[in-house]
Amino acid sequence: MAKYKIIPIKCGEFQQHEKSTLTYFYGYGEKIITPIIAYLIRGEGLNILVDTGCSGEEWAKKYHHPIKQTEDMKMLNALANLGLQPDDIDCIVNTHLHWDHCWNNDLFPGKKIYVQKKELEFAENPIPMQYPYYESEQIGMQPPYKKTMDQYEVVDGDVNLYPGIDLVFIPGHTPGFQGVLVDTEGGKYLIASDCIGRFENWEGVGIHKHLPSAIHVDLKECYATYEKIEKICDYILPGHDMKVFEQDEYPPKK
Ligand SMILES: [Zn+2]
Repeated sequence: MAKYKIIPIKCGEFQQHEKSTLTYFYGYGEKIITPIIAYLIRGEGLNILVDTGCSGEEWAKKYHHPIKQTEDMKMLNALANLGLQPDDIDCIVNTHLHWDHCWNNDLFPGKKIYVQKKELEFAENPIPMQYPYYESEQIGMQPPYKKTMDQYEVVDGDVNLYPGIDLVFIPGHTPGFQGVLVDTEGGKYLIASDCIGRFENWEGVGIHKHLPSAIHVDLKECYATYEKIEKICDYILPGHDMKVFEQDEYPPKK
């Protein structure tokens, strides 16, 4: 059975970030440092990049929220530190097309980028609350995902990508969201990204078994997605939690 390792890549850190944007109505007023995370799946001779991170500091500050981005957080440097060039990447998966997850797609010319059909459709005409996240044309911007239109490999629903690696349709945060389910020596990990932005979204609080992000398109879908996730994996890996970096890789080294 194919077994892989998953390496988190920190692409930037939102400064003074309002926690409750990720934990619906909980932690209001609490300002935290929130990382922007991409993941690299390695094993069986493959290097698969899940999301490509965010813009640089200036752009983020002007159009989104201030971030700190050291040299080693820039995508190409982060990969070089793992001994990889863009050409070593076999393919890319976009969990969704928010700016902080697909910004650097164009650093990988010619590589296939897996995205859900519903995500591409929604990105073209998002709900107004999410215009800024897609940098959508409706607000006069040029969506970063559009730089690589000729590279998308459009999938619809759950799809097996390689032995031991599956794309899993888990909508809610966006209508076409996908996670990546990965077989490892330590069990099945779901790279859940913004579907479960922080570990506490999964662990829940009070009567809430799981806690949705405040950034969602459909709460009912969020809950249906949680039920699906409960059945398919042993561990989740979130898109915006500093705790992820307590380990260099998953499963953790013994
Ligand atoms: Zn997002």
